[in-house]
Amino acid sequence: MADQYDYDLFTIGAGSGGVRASRVAASHGARVIVAEEHRVGGTCVIRGCVPKKMLVYGAHFAEDLEDARAFGWTIENPKFDWATLRDNVLRDVDRLNGLYTETLDNHGVEIVNERAELVGPHEIKLSGGRTVTARHILIATGARPHVPDCPGHELGITSNEAFHLETLPRRILIAGGGYIANEFAGIFNELGSQVTIINRSDQLLRGYDEALRDRLLQISMMKGIDFRFHAEFRGIEKNDDGTLKVSMTNHDDLMVDCVLFATGRLPNTGGLGLEKAGVETGEKNEILVDRFSKTNVDHIYAVGDVTDRVQLTPVAIREGQAFADTVFGGGDPIAVDHDCIPSAVFSHPPLAGVGLTEGQARNKYGSVRVYQSDFRPMKNVLAGRNERSLYKMVCDEDSGRILGIHMIGPEAAEIMQAAAVAVKAGLTKADFDATVAIHPTMAEELVLLR
Ligand code: NDP
Repeated sequence: MADQYDYDLFTIGAGSGGVRASRVAASHGARVIVAEEHRVGGTCVIRGCVPKKMLVYGAHFAEDLEDARAFGWTIENPKFDWATLRDNVLRDVDRLNGLYTETLDNHGVEIVNERAELVGPHEIKLSGGRTVTARHILIATGARPHVPDCPGHELGITSNEAFHLETLPRRILIAGGGYIANEFAGIFNELGSQVTIINRSDQLLRGYDEALRDRLLQISMMKGIDFRFHAEFRGIEKNDDGTLKVSMTNHDDLMVDCVLFATGRLPNTGGLGLEKAGVETGEKNEILVDRFSKTNVDHIYAVGDVTDRVQLTPVAIREGQAFADTVFGGGDPIAVDHDCIPSAVFSHPPLAGVGLTEGQARNKYGSVRVYQSDFRPMKNVLAGRNERSLYKMVCDEDSGRILGIHMIGPEAAEIMQAAAVAVKAGLTKADFDATVAIHPTMAEELVLLR
C-alpha cells in the first residue's frame, strides 16, 4: 500500500469489535491506530458482561449457602460484604484491561487514549489536537444506556455505575424488563436488596420464548422480586433523608434508595463527525452498514453495537474479525451470518435460547411440533428448593428439523452453547433421540424430550 495515508486503519473505539478488528488487521500487516476515550476493553470487559457475570456468581452463593444445609453443611451466620465483591471484581476488570492493552501492543497497534472525530473522509482529529489520515476507518464506538427523559432522571444510575456503588442499596427500583433489568434484579435480590422492577408493558424479555419468560417471572416473584407492569416513569424526587421518591403511571409512588435505568442502549454516534465524512445513519442514529459492515462510504466500516444489528459481544467480535479479514486479509469478502445466534440472560436462574421461539415458528411455518420437559433439577429436590426448569424444542412438523431450543434452569447458558451447534447445523429431533444421555444430568433432558 502506498504511504499516502498515515495509517492503513484508524479504529474508533477499543471495545470487543474494535480490538479484534485492530489486532487482526495488524496481523495482516496493516498499520493500525485505535482511539479509545475511556478504557481498552469496552462495555463488555469494563462495565458489562464480564463484571456482571462475576456479580452473578457472587450473588448465587446466597442460594448455595442456603441449600448447603440439606446436604449436611452447617454454615454459621454467613455474612456478605459488598465492598469485597465489588473491589475484587473491579480488580479483575483492571487485569483484563491490561491484557487487552497488551494484546494490541504486542501486535504493534498504536493506542491513543483520546476521543476521535472524523473531520473529512479520511481525516480524523484527536481531542489532544493531532489530526491523522487513514486509508480505512472502522467505527466501533458501541452503545450507551438510554435514560428516559423524566424529571429527576439524573438521580438514577445505569448499569455503568452499578459496579461502583458505595453501598448495597436496601431498596432498589429497576426500570425496564430486558436483559439488564432481569440480570441486576437477580443480583441485588440475592444479595439482600428489596428489588422492584417497573416496566412500561407487561412483557419481560421480548424476543425470548413466552413459556420461559412466564417461568422466570414466576420464579423471580417467588424469590421476592416485585414487578409493576404498565408503569412509565413520571419522575424522581430526592427526599431530605437522601432516599428517592419515584412516581409512575398506574401505580402508587415508591420510596427507594437507588433507581437503576435498564431501558435499552443507544448507538454511540454523537460527536463523531459522521456528517463530515458523509456516513449515513438510521432512525435510532445507528450506523447503516451492508453485510460486510461497510457504510455508504466505501472506505468506512462499522461493527458492533453502534450498528444496532445484534447487541451482543460475540457478534461484534465476529463482525470485527470479518471486517479485518475482508479488507486486509487478501481473500474473498466475508459476511457475518446473523442467523440462529444463541443468547442467554444471566438471571436467577438463567435462561437461554437459540433459533425461533414457539410463537415465531408458528407464525412462520403454521404448524410445528413442540417437545418440552418441565422438571425439578435433582439438586433442587434435595435442597427442598421449589424451582422447576423448563426445556423446549420447537421442530418443523414434517422434517423434524429443530427450529429452536429454549431453556430456563441452572446452567442453561452453558448447556445451550453446545445445543446451539446442533440447531445451527440443521439437525433434527431424531438426531437428538439417537444420542445417548449422560446420566444423571439436567442436559440429558434434551435427548429424552417427548
Ligand atoms: P433490552 O432491549 O433487553 O430491554 C430494554 C427494556 O427497556 C425493555 O423492557 C423495554 O420495553 C424497556 N424500554 C425501552 N425503551 C424504554 C423507554 N423509553 N421507557 C421505558 N422502558 C423502555 O435492553 P437492556 O438495556 O436490558 O440491554 C441492552 C442490550 O444489551 C440488550 O438488548 C442485549 O442485546 C445486550 N445485553 C446482553 C446481555 C447478555 O447477553 N446476557 C446482558 C446485558 C445486555 P419494551 O419491551 O416495551 O420495548
